[in-house]
Amino acid sequence: MKAKGWRDLPPGSVVLEGGSAVKFKTGSWRAFRPIWIEENCIQCLFCWIYCPDMAVEVKDGKRTEFDYDYCKGCGICALECPGRKGQKAIVMAEEGK
Ligand code: SF4
Ligand code: SF4
Repeated sequence: MKAKGWRDLPPGSVVLEGGSAVKFKTGSWRAFRPIWIEENCIQCLFCWIYCPDMAVEVKDGKRTEFDYDYCKGCGICALECPGRKGQKAIVMAEEGK
């Protein structure tokens, strides 16, 4: 029997509409949680720029809390955060501890 080619396979994951990612609370995948230390924050917004999941909330030009419904805990924000005088404004903590 001849093996099927890719054109013969039924479609699998198909995104039928834009913005569908908002329906999936991907924060449940997280193993590590970023913690914001407000007193060390200089409001540079690097965390907002670098977050691949738009999980840093900004109001009136200033960052506020993380949106833990969508933060996957990748740690990029903590890595890029310059903090104040060498003191990070974001640290990563093990989830559930
Ligand atoms: S840990 Fe990753 S996903 Fe979560 S806020 Fe930071 S950059 Fe975004
Ligand atoms: S990257 Fe760090 S210092 Fe900059 S806004 Fe985010 S938490 Fe604040």
